[in-house]
Amino acid sequence: AKESGRNRRHLFTDEISRKLKAQREISTRLHQSLGNGEFELVYQPQFDMTSQSVTACEALLRWRPQDPSLAVSPDIFIPIAERSDLIILLGDWVLEQACAQVSAWKQAGFNIRVDINVSGKQLEQADFFEILESYRARYGLSPQDLGIELTEHVLIKSNDRMLNGLRGQRDKGVEISIDDFGTGYSSLNYLKIFPITNLKIDRSFVVEAPENELDGALLEAIVTVGHRLKFNIVVEGIETDRQAQFCKALAIDYAQGYWYSKPLSATEVVRFFEQASDH
Ligand code: C2E
Ligand code: CA
Ligand code: CA
Ligand code: CA
Repeated sequence: AKESGRNRRHLFTDEISRKLKAQREISTRLHQSLGNGEFELVYQPQFDMTSQSVTACEALLRWRPQDPSLAVSPDIFIPIAERSDLIILLGDWVLEQACAQVSAWKQAGFNIRVDINVSGKQLEQADFFEILESYRARYGLSPQDLGIELTEHVLIKSNDRMLNGLRGQRDKGVEISIDDFGTGYSSLNYLKIFPITNLKIDRSFVVEAPENELDGALLEAIVTVGHRLKFNIVVEGIETDRQAQFCKALAIDYAQGYWYSKPLSATEVVRFFEQASDH
């Protein structure tokens, strides 16, 4: 028994070192890819349930290595990048790319807000808000043009400097969303402290809401509290008409998900926007 215990331990450490090795390889390739232009932003429309139109979208990062067999999904490579300062470089690329895209769209007479995902390490940089403002200035954007999404996790770990910075942005008109709302550990009390404008409710609350009475009740309660606090409510991961109708009946403000549209390339977004505003 002692012997097999030792073997198990060997297997275990082998597995860990294999994992670490794979992560180091991905990290190295991410660095190289940044220099090679192998990243792309795709944009997932957010449907305004009141005006029945699309006024915003979320920018989502895609990695397209030259060898497609090496492609890795953001759910894998973002957490790896977040373990080092690589996420700051990637986040900076996302920020500038999103600004450049919104600016190009504006010049073509197409006005749509783009929300970007900001990770904790980015927000921790002492000059994050200066960087944000300098990109906005460089691309001629107004505060309303570019929103930011932060998870509860990031907000809970934030300090006064970050919260003041966020407050400053919010007061200028920047849309600030709590992403994946409901999956973190935050208490409702935090909603008084965080300078935010939108609650973006995690997909897990929506999936079974129409069928499962408890899920439905939870969703309804979050919407009620959020609206009382004057936040806009966004739901993500809507995949069926039933979920969409259920959310609409709860007076949810914005909805995002495959039911409306998958994340689209910059060209496809314009087409989608034009079609949506035809109806
Ligand atoms: P997220 O911020 O929660 O983004 C939503 C994810 O749900 C996206 O996955 C999107 O493609 C997916 N999704 C959208 N509609 C549906 C639906 O109807 N059903 C289902 N099952 N999924 C849907 P994606 O693009 O793979 O991104 C995964 C995560 O990676 C994001 O989760 C976000 O946390 C992170 N991420 C993506 N881009 C960036 C980025 O530029 N910066 C940072 N820091 N994180 C990013
Ligand atoms: Ca997000
Ligand atoms: Ca989310
Ligand atoms: Ca998520």
